[in-house]
Amino acid sequence: MDLTLAAEDAAFAEQVRSWLVENLELEATQRPGRFASIEEEVAWGRRWQARMAADRMVAIYWPEAVGGRGATPVEVALYNMEYARAGAPQPVNRVGINLAGPTLLACGSEAQQARWLPSILDASEIWCQLFSEPDAGSDLAALRTSAERVDGGWLVTGQKVWTSYAQFSKWGIALVRTDPEARKHAGISYMVIDMEADGIEIRPLRQITGEAEFNEVFLDDVFVPDDLIVGELHNGWAVANTTLAHERGTNFPFKEQVVHEVYLDELARLAAERCVLDDPLVADGLADAFVQLRLLRLQNWRTLSALGRGEEPGPESSVVKLTWSDMTQHLSALALAILGDEAPLWPAPTGESAAGTWQRQWLWSKSASIAGGTSEVQRTIIGERILGMPRG
Ligand SMILES: Cc1cc2nc3c(=O)[nH]c(=O)nc-3n(C[C@H](O)[C@H](O)[C@H](O)COP(=O)(O)OP(=O)(O)OC[C@H]3O[C@@H](n4cnc5c(N)ncnc54)[C@H](O)[C@@H]3O)c2cc1C
Repeated sequence: MDLTLAAEDAAFAEQVRSWLVENLELEATQRPGRFASIEEEVAWGRRWQARMAADRMVAIYWPEAVGGRGATPVEVALYNMEYARAGAPQPVNRVGINLAGPTLLACGSEAQQARWLPSILDASEIWCQLFSEPDAGSDLAALRTSAERVDGGWLVTGQKVWTSYAQFSKWGIALVRTDPEARKHAGISYMVIDMEADGIEIRPLRQITGEAEFNEVFLDDVFVPDDLIVGELHNGWAVANTTLAHERGTNFPFKEQVVHEVYLDELARLAAERCVLDDPLVADGLADAFVQLRLLRLQNWRTLSALGRGEEPGPESSVVKLTWSDMTQHLSALALAILGDEAPLWPAPTGESAAGTWQRQWLWSKSASIAGGTSEVQRTIIGERILGMPRG
């Protein structure tokens, strides 16, 4: 395999790098060191994403005609690596860019694409994902939120949970049972729900980090007009699979690889500063992370070659998800070991110390093995679909 970048790809990476340096510097003048609230962070995130959209620096793999750059898989990988290396904040409308947008491009009508894609790009309308329910997470098709046919549309009733950013969203992509008589995976429709419609109640859920980023969403006879159904009626499971394929798609592995390489460098520096590099726990922890990251990098190059050949991402994405979630938890725990006695001092009095940052990261890392498909489920996919083991 030849891993040398073509001249045009190297030039593209350079273009992204210099755009990020210039624009992050401009934004830094208006950004507080630490956001006082999630509302403040979202308001800033909208502005940052609008800046990216104005220069076509967001959703670059979307076609040019709808505001993207029609980027190749190699360009997307390079973009994500540069983005992570620059320490740029995640776009605030992640669900819109990574899940709703690609699903609308693949399965939505022209009218739906024209209506929603521009406001996804510049974050003037934020989106959320209304998939999980109290009794339907890993087993998503067990969902019970249902819809009753009325003149011109549907009345939706039920409950969703863990809905990130619902409180800031204008639209939600939802899976709803429209034919209760059909078997489990059939009879589900994929709807876009207006989060400001009558009958919606959003209750924030406080996480162990102290923030309330996700929510319970209650729907009581929420009217959804027919033209807000994406794809065919009762065929929502197929549409949902498009969304789920993008959830661990091509954006994610390259970005996470670099994010964790940066973490590892920071930890090695921190360990040296605190003179704990000789501690066997720290030394082994750093070496393990280094090896894991090299393996992840090789896995990513393999994925990239497959994408370059025009192949779709397959079950290998579960290996990346599993490696990433183990890695993020391992590095966060290692950070606390390096910080030693200082580690529990959180929130730090000044709000800016190394302990404050890593303690939050350690708490947040707990969600990595749950969000976007749990580690147990990833292991089952790897066992059955890559290793060919019998179905459990
Ligand atoms: C930070 C975060 C953000 C999220 N944001 C969203 C969002 O915006 N929108 C949304 O719709 N959802 C969101 N989720 C929900 C997420 O998709 C679910 O938590 C996840 O799919 C797991 O479902 P569950 O929580 O119902 O757990 P369950 O499915 O009830 O699982 C409970 C436990 O049982 C294990 N288990 C379940 N089935 C199997 C099996 N077949 N074999 C082996 N073990 C099994 C699981 O691994 C887990 O340990 C978010 C979750 C997190 C943590």
